[in-house]
Amino acid sequence: MNQFIAYIHTNCVACGACMKVCPRHAISIKYGIKAKVNTDLCVGCGICVKTCPAGIIEKKERT
Ligand code: SF4
Ligand code: SF4
Repeated sequence: MNQFIAYIHTNCVACGACMKVCPRHAISIKYGIKAKVNTDLCVGCGICVKTCPAGIIEKKERT
């Protein structure tokens, strides 16, 4: 299990940028309004963190 995971804060505008860059296809847009991370697939690489134009994705330690 990887140490880090992507966490998406509120205010997501569902632009889909994070979803397109995730190498693990771990992000989906739920109900067309908010991005959601599949914690089973995310490896915590942080690519989505750098990509989000709203700056609302955080790399967190898995608990
Ligand atoms: S941290 Fe990496 S694997 Fe996890 S959702 Fe973001 S881009 Fe995908
Ligand atoms: S890149 Fe940011 S604003 Fe766009 S869908 Fe992902 S979390 Fe939401």
